Amino acid sequence: MYDDDNIFAKILRGEIPCKKVYEDSHVLAFDDINPQAPVHTLVIPKGKYVSMQDFAEKASEAEITALTRAVGKVAEIKGIKDSGFRILANAGGDAHQEVPHLHIHVFGGRPLGPMLVRK
Ligand code: AMP
Repeated sequence: MYDDDNIFAKILRGEIPCKKVYEDSHVLAFDDINPQAPVHTLVIPKGKYVSMQDFAEKASEAEITALTRAVGKVAEIKGIKDSGFRILANAGGDAHQEVPHLHIHVFGGRPLGPMLVRK
């Protein structure tokens, strides 16, 4: 079930501000409020999708294409397409997803270290 009161739904409705990086008819990208790297931008679909799983099952081809292309746009706008970057999308409890609206993190601007904490 999608929660209309989640923080990214409020950003999409313009109820709280964001630092916009890119927008088109299907996608909004904005800087993370608590950046973990010199570049840390979130790319979200405008549709009501809880997670990547939900999006993969229900999104239209136009939405899927737009989200993918937006990641490339963000890397270009932020100047990290040649230096390199990492994308990450947490889904559900084991991944510690905090906000229940699909978001792709785009990290860059410095060497990012290992992909996951090793146990
Ligand atoms: P996740 O743990 O993958 O759900 O990540 C949620 C991300 O949303 C975190 O990196 C937060 O810093 C970020 N975040 C939470 N509230 C806001 C906000 N109002 N504007 C921008 N980023 C936010």
